[in-house]
Amino acid sequence: MNIILFGPPGSGKGTQAEFIVKKFNLTHLSTGNLLRENVKNNTELGKKAESIMKSGKLVPDDIIKDMIRVKIAELKQSSKGFLFDGYPRTLVQAEQLEEILEAEKIGQYKVISLEVSDSEVTKRISGRRMCRICEKMFHVSFMPPKKDGVCDACGGEIYQRADDNEKTVLERLKVYNEQTSPLLNYFKAKNALYTINGEGKVEEITEQILKII
Ligand code: AMP
Repeated sequence: MNIILFGPPGSGKGTQAEFIVKKFNLTHLSTGNLLRENVKNNTELGKKAESIMKSGKLVPDDIIKDMIRVKIAELKQSSKGFLFDGYPRTLVQAEQLEEILEAEKIGQYKVISLEVSDSEVTKRISGRRMCRICEKMFHVSFMPPKKDGVCDACGGEIYQRADDNEKTVLERLKVYNEQTSPLLNYFKAKNALYTINGEGKVEEITEQILKII
C-alpha cells in the first residue's frame, strides 16, 4: 500500500504522516525533510536546493526524481509501502513517480488530499515550529511542546524553519495554487483521489484518513 498525502503547506500532512506511518508500518518519504537533511549536511544537492527553498519556489523536478528514486531503491526491500508527503508537487513529478513505481514494482497509490484555506495556512505556518533532530512538528498555540523549546519526542532543539515566515508562505501558497493543485484533476482522472476537510481537529482528520485507508 502506498499513500500520497496531498495539500498546501501547513495543511497538516506532516502531523498526520507521523501517525499513519506508525499505524501501518509505512516508510515516510517527505521530500521537504530529505532536502532539509541535505542542506544540513551541506551536500551538493543541499547547496543547489537551499536558496530555492528559502525563496519558497520548487526545486527542479529532475533533482527530486533522482533523490526519490535512490531512496525507494534503497528502502523498498524493508518497506511495507511508502507514504509520500509533499511529493509529487508538479505534473512532471507525478509522471516520474508512476515510472519509478512501475520500474521498482511497488504497486499503486491512494491520494489523500487535505483541504485548508489560504488564510488558515498563513495562520498555522507563522506559529509552526519543528524539531531540529527528529523533525516532529509543533505549534506555539495549537500544539506546544511540554517544555519550552525542547522536543517531546527526542529532546532536540525546536526551531522555526527559515521558510516558515509570512512573506515566503505567500510565495509557497502561490506555487501550490499554480503548480501543485492542478494535480488534483490528474489524480481524480485515475480514480485515486480522496478529499478531506483539513480544518477540523487533528484526531477527527486522522479518523477520516483511517476510513479511507
Ligand atoms: P515542505 O517541507 O514540503 O514544505 O518543503 C519545503 C520546501 O522544499 C518547498 O517550499 C520547496 O522549495 C522544496 N520542496 C519540497 N518538496 C518538493 C518537491 N516535491 N518538489 C520541489 N520542491 C520541493
